[in-house]
Amino acid sequence: MTSRLLILGGTTEAAALARVLDGDPGLAVIYSLAGRTSDPGAQPATLRIGGFGGAEGLAAYLRSEEIAAVVDATHPFAASMRWHALAACSAVGIPQLRLERPGWDPRPGDRWIGADTMADAADVVVSTAAKRIFLTVGRGELGSFGPVADGRRWWLVRSIEPPVGEVPAPGEVILDRGPFTVAGEIGLMRRHRIDLLVTKNSGGDATEAKLEAARRLGVTVAVVARPASPPGRATTTVEEAARWVRATLASQPG
Ligand code: NAP
Repeated sequence: MTSRLLILGGTTEAAALARVLDGDPGLAVIYSLAGRTSDPGAQPATLRIGGFGGAEGLAAYLRSEEIAAVVDATHPFAASMRWHALAACSAVGIPQLRLERPGWDPRPGDRWIGADTMADAADVVVSTAAKRIFLTVGRGELGSFGPVADGRRWWLVRSIEPPVGEVPAPGEVILDRGPFTVAGEIGLMRRHRIDLLVTKNSGGDATEAKLEAARRLGVTVAVVARPASPPGRATTTVEEAARWVRATLASQPG
């Protein structure tokens, strides 16, 4: 009998897990994306795209698709989906695991200023009197910086897809997707004479180079903390998640 696993994706780790499990005998992997990226590229497993309609919609999907287990590998800053996954899995009574990459920690030489929210990060812009700011916060978060974009500061905005809503100005928008290199990030920050980098504490290798670049250049970094994670079983590694999936599904009655 085939067991059906749902992976809630949108992260490198989610795609990696789907690849690791692809081809496991007796396992069908369904990989779910919200649909934020216009071209998600080649994805492993069976791909489905779009929201479920809240926790109730997800619970209905789990039942109708006879999903045996869920790995929630959405981004650490995905505010709603993680809670919906927890609620839906417990309503349906199926096992769920959260796969979440570790956050970044400051290293010697870093000039980090912590921010609890994006609005706090905008306050850091003011308190540091930064003049040339590099925003790598996601295209939907730029509105928080509108109140401090008073024409006296210059903004470099980088996002994967074109920004939505208000973009701080004057400045420049770069559309690019990691992985980025330290040399590339140093060049970019030097070229634009950046004096403050703003980032979420997303963690992961693909976008970490900007932190190393900031360290080497002595650039201050405003680091927005992660929102609280839901309770429940969790791991930080793809290998551990794969072990959990195999053990969990093997122990279910056939
Ligand atoms: P969110 O606030 O938790 O999600 C908003 C809504 O999008 C959810 O309520 C759900 O709609 C739908 N959704 C989210 N993830 C989904 C998935 N994997 N499959 C199907 N529907 C999903 O998350 P977000 O911040 O908008 O992020 C959206 C997606 O981008 C997530 O998959 C996340 O992993 C990825 N991502 C986010 C960030 C970030 O910084 N937030 C960065 C990189 C990647 P319904 O309620 O209708 O089910």
